Amino acid sequence: MSLQQIVLKGRDVLFMLIMVLFSSMLFGCNQNEDSTNDTSTTNYTETTNEIVIPNVPVKDGYVETVLGPISTKDLGMTLMHEHIIWDWYGADESRNIDYSPNDVVEIILPYLEALKEAGCKTLVEGSPKGAGRDIEVLKLAAERSGLNIITNTGLWNGGYGVTVPNDIKDKTVDEIVEKWVKEYTDGIEGTGVKPGFIKITLPDRGEISDENLKYFRAAVKVSNQTGLPIQCHSLRAIKVKEMMYIIEEENLPYNQFIWIHADYEKNIDKIIEMAEEGIWIELDALGRARDLDWHVEALKRLIEEDLIDHVLISQDAGSYNVGHYVHNVIPYDRIFVEFIPLCKNEGISEEIIYKIFIQNPAEVLGLEN
Ligand SMILES: [Zn+2]
Repeated sequence: MSLQQIVLKGRDVLFMLIMVLFSSMLFGCNQNEDSTNDTSTTNYTETTNEIVIPNVPVKDGYVETVLGPISTKDLGMTLMHEHIIWDWYGADESRNIDYSPNDVVEIILPYLEALKEAGCKTLVEGSPKGAGRDIEVLKLAAERSGLNIITNTGLWNGGYGVTVPNDIKDKTVDEIVEKWVKEYTDGIEGTGVKPGFIKITLPDRGEISDENLKYFRAAVKVSNQTGLPIQCHSLRAIKVKEMMYIIEEENLPYNQFIWIHADYEKNIDKIIEMAEEGIWIELDALGRARDLDWHVEALKRLIEEDLIDHVLISQDAGSYNVGHYVHNVIPYDRIFVEFIPLCKNEGISEEIIYKIFIQNPAEVLGLEN
């Protein structure tokens, strides 16, 4: 190990400590919400995770996976936001951390197999270029697990800018649009693999910067040109609301826009208000939440308000962390072994479950044939 590598490792350890502290602050927040529900008719007492999945009708169309396009009919039970590989400073080219796709898949495969065993068919992988996206890893993971895996174009700039790809930083909106559309038309980095959605970030705290506005508008334009949906990271409803004018200006259909991490907002009324606008809201911290009571209550409210057509649910679980010695993988099957049985005990029907995990993902991800 050279002196430079030792320095880099030292920086890694320090950065990891900071991130552990940051994560426990961010993800440790208790997502409790006073329940105003009295709809707990207990028609379903089943607590098993055994799922027999019927042929529910889905929107016609296709979806790009890392192993090629598939029909929306083949998506099956779908998790809309998970991570297989993540890299806290993957865009920093001065860093020289080596790993092989095999290393990653060896660690992650048991978790993917457990997920498939539980009844899942498709995993949407939310790590963009600069934050760990590695097409070879995802292809190998798909081949070995038998799951459909969907990757993305776009970026995540929540990590102090270190995850913003260098070839994007100084570009104009139109230049960024050209790059991201090219990944869709020609495939990603010579692999031929095409993205199935666009990833973008709004800041967790502070003002929305000019840089954020630039990436956001680029994402909206790419969505208009390709039909790919946008997954937009935001922990607060007010930030998403602030950006709706760009969606308006660019005439993006609202149903191509997903507000991810909506459950960090905690205030269900604000989440409902955004769903009523017509965008998708995604409750996706189920892998990180201490318990799932808030999520069950939130879902019951959304059902009551007749907004189930706008709801996606996932876990933000995983992942292999590039350059780290310890990965602390969050399992991918909590929705299947804990959340769905809890929902059924609370009287939420199988029709609703299939709507959220089969029909809604097909609706938002499906591209026209
Ligand atoms: Zn995520």
